[in-house]
This record gives sequence, C-alpha cells and structure tokens, in this order.
Amino acid sequence: MGKVRARLSISGLFAFALACRTPPEIAPPKPNVLLVTIETFRADHVGSYGYGRNTTPNLDRLARQGAKLENAVAQAPFTLPSISSLMTGMTPPGHGVRNHPAVLADSIETLAERLQKAGYQTAAMTRHTWLRNKSGLDQGFLEYHNNKFAAGLDARSLSLAASDWLAERDPARPFFLWLHFLDPHLPYTPSYPYSVLYHDAYGADPQAVHLRAMTAAAVDREDYAPTPYADLAGGPYYDLVLRHYPENRILLDLAFWRRSRGSIFFNKGAYSRYEVSQLVDLYDGAILYTDDNLGRILKTLADLGLAETTVVAVAGDHGEALGEHGLSFTHDFTLYDEVLRVPLVIRGPGVEPGTSIAQQVRLMDLAPTLLDLAGVEPLTGVEARSLAPLLRGGSLPYLTAFAESAPARTQVPEQDKIYLPGIRGKWRMVRTDRWKLIQIPRAEGDLYELYDLVDDPGETRNLFADLAGEGAKLQPLLDAWMARDPLQGSETSGEEGLEELDPSALEQLKTLGYIQ
Ligand SMILES: [Zn+2]
Repeated sequence: MGKVRARLSISGLFAFALACRTPPEIAPPKPNVLLVTIETFRADHVGSYGYGRNTTPNLDRLARQGAKLENAVAQAPFTLPSISSLMTGMTPPGHGVRNHPAVLADSIETLAERLQKAGYQTAAMTRHTWLRNKSGLDQGFLEYHNNKFAAGLDARSLSLAASDWLAERDPARPFFLWLHFLDPHLPYTPSYPYSVLYHDAYGADPQAVHLRAMTAAAVDREDYAPTPYADLAGGPYYDLVLRHYPENRILLDLAFWRRSRGSIFFNKGAYSRYEVSQLVDLYDGAILYTDDNLGRILKTLADLGLAETTVVAVAGDHGEALGEHGLSFTHDFTLYDEVLRVPLVIRGPGVEPGTSIAQQVRLMDLAPTLLDLAGVEPLTGVEARSLAPLLRGGSLPYLTAFAESAPARTQVPEQDKIYLPGIRGKWRMVRTDRWKLIQIPRAEGDLYELYDLVDDPGETRNLFADLAGEGAKLQPLLDAWMARDPLQGSETSGEEGLEELDPSALEQLKTLGYIQ
C-alpha cells in the first residue's frame, strides 16, 4: 500500500513538473459587475424610453454608451419574487418565492453564488425590508447590508456607501456589487429640491423659489441634509402644499395615512386627475433624485478607472400603477404593462454601444446575461437565457414572458380583483412582442383578457372574445407554464417569516404602505 502511494505521489510530482514547463494559459481578466436595481421604476417614466420629462439624464447617458432594452418585462409586479427571478433566472414557480415575505431556498443557485465561486468579491447594499438578510437573497454575498444606513429611505447615503466600497475594495479581484435603490416607492417623498422641481403651480411662492433654487448639485454639498422621511408630514414641503392646495386630499391622505391603503390604491377616495398628477410629480422627483445618485456611482467608477472594465446593468424591479386600470400608486395586484415593463440598460465589455433592442426580454434573463458577459459558468436548469448575442448586435430566438401577481387577498381588503385566496388566486400572464393574455382565476370560471400591445399599448380593449384565435394560441403556453407550478391550485399564501420581522422592519413596511 505504502509503495503504491509513493509511486502515485512520484507520478503526481512528474505531472506537476510537466505542467510547470508548459506556460500557463492566461485567462482574460474578468470584468467587474455592477448591478443597480431601482424600486418601482416604470419604463415609460425614463427619458430615453420616451418620457417627456428629463427624469433620468445619467441612465440615458449610460444607455447611449451601452444597450437599451426597450421591452424588458418583470416576472412579478412586486419586489422579492421579481428580484429573485433576476438573481436566479427562473420565474416565481421555479424559484419558489411567491409572496412577501418569503425565503429563497438554499438549494437554489444564484447569480451572486456563481460569481463568488468564480473568485469575485461580492457585496450587496439594499434598504428594503423585503430584501432583508433572511430573504435568502444574501446567498453568495460576502457582505450583505440591509437597512444599515441613516436617513431611512434615502438614495444619497446608499450612493455614498457604494462609492466608498468601490474605492476600498480588494483591487486584486473582480467585484460584483448589487445596489437596490428604494426611493421611487410610495409615499414618494424625495428631498428638496426634487419635491418641487416638477410642480410649477407654486409660482413665485418664496418658499417654492427657495426650495427650487437648491439645484440638483446641492446633493454634492457637504452640508446637504436629505429630508428624513418621518419629518415630511409636518415639514415645510407639506406647509407649502397646504397653503396652495388646502383641499388636496390625496397628499394629506398619504402624508398622514388618513385613509386605508386600499381606498388610496383602488381610488375609493375618487381623487381628481389633478390630485393624482401632484403625486406623479413627486414620483418623478424621486426618480430624478435616484438618477442623480446613480450618476455619483458612475462617476466614482470612472474616477477609479473602472468604467471600461465594469459591466453596469441598471433595471427597475417592477413598475407602478399611476391611475391606470383602476389602480393607483401601487403595483402587486395586476399584470398590465405599467407594473411589468421596466427599464433595462447594460453597458460594458461585450456590449455594443448605442444598441437599442426592441425585442421582448425578461428581467430574469439578466442572471445568465451577466454570467455570460463575465465569462463565468452559467446557471443550470434555468428558464432564462443570456442576452449577450443581442447586446453584441446579433439576434436571439423569440422569448416568451410569463408573470404572476401577488396572491394574498387579505393584504388589502378593498382589493376586489383577486377573487380567490392564496397562490391559486394569483393572476397569470403570458406576453409576446405583440400579444398579452391574462388569466384571472375565479370560482365560477376564470376570466381572460387579451390585449394587442402594438395597437393598444394602454391595454384598454380586451379582445379575448373577438380574437379567440390569438388567445387560443397563447393559452396552451400559459397552461404549460402553470402545470409546472409545484403549488398549482394551492390556497397557501406563500408567505414565510413574517413573525421574524423586528419592530424597525415593521415600521418601514408601514411607511411603504404594506401594513397598516
Ligand atoms: Zn419593488
């Protein structure tokens, strides 16, 4: 036995010596990966996606330097399932995260795990309770910072922390940094001057003039103090609003939660178009504020000489309903494009600058895409595929998108569009470049809606009865996707871990409108 071992080790040495004689193959250095997800971010409120306001100058510049995916679709209109899809390359039935809160199973492999195994220094910074450490999304991250920053909901502290991290990282290794900005989420409370930038009706009010004069550059000043969210309800911004619009019920309802969430979300308060537009002004202000902070991070990358060697991907996690389809200032409950279509911009090695891609892609395609661009082994058994050929200016076969809504009926009692409780009550959707079929489960028979996204992008005319042929083509795809759902027909809510949330997490969820 001893002899055999000795011989083996001698032949091992011989092999080692041979290997040393052959010059080692030099692998190209791996690019860094910076992933930025932005909460509640509709594609049609982005300047380069055709919005009338200049809400996203930094994202638009990034799009010109890289690729803009014009039709990127989220796999769920709410945070944790959608981000889980982005990180795993699977739809919610595949990765098993179906509700808020929930836990991504250890057995599921993520983008971060793959990159960490390939030698990347990995870190995540988020401030969203649904993305807490116990969500399971921390898999593969050496550092996972959740809710650790001052000033609760502010993009500025996140961008400063990210810039510090980039400057202090281990330069000997490629990095994967994931940042999740929360600011555009309800209750839309951007700091000054962003809260008054888009609302001209304040005219020459000295307070408005003063607030507006604090230009976007103010955020770079040392003494700039973001408005702590909790102070807004009684702060100078609401003073201004109240002096000009004492009857503006929706701002007051949101500032003080005077009405239930459901009556705001489902417009039981019958808010006027003008009242709604004031909130849209604030939503856009929050987007610009986030974009300014994205600009800071991109500048840091450039200053550190990392712009050329870093793949940067920026995406919305889902959209937001701003009055369409009877839903206001929330997402979760429907599957129309205002809650599913998100901006997706990718720049860096392997991406042809100035590329605009009209073909439909899925947010979940980001995981295989980033691994492909990084030259790292792909995730196995996933539903998504790498978009790298499209980013190089080539083509890909047609990609079908699926999505499911939030399940719980109890979350908002006024929510009358989900008829059945639990996971079996979720809406489901299949979407092609032109058509969308939505299934709404009901005890007395499912409802179907079919929309022509080219002729009717607002999804206002349900063609299911008129164009049964188109619906009939899509229905088997939807049925096949649902048949693979291990929880199909289940009444379970898919909720996991609510009892573990600490008081500060519960306080944040209250602020964001999830609990009362
Ligand atoms: Zn979200």
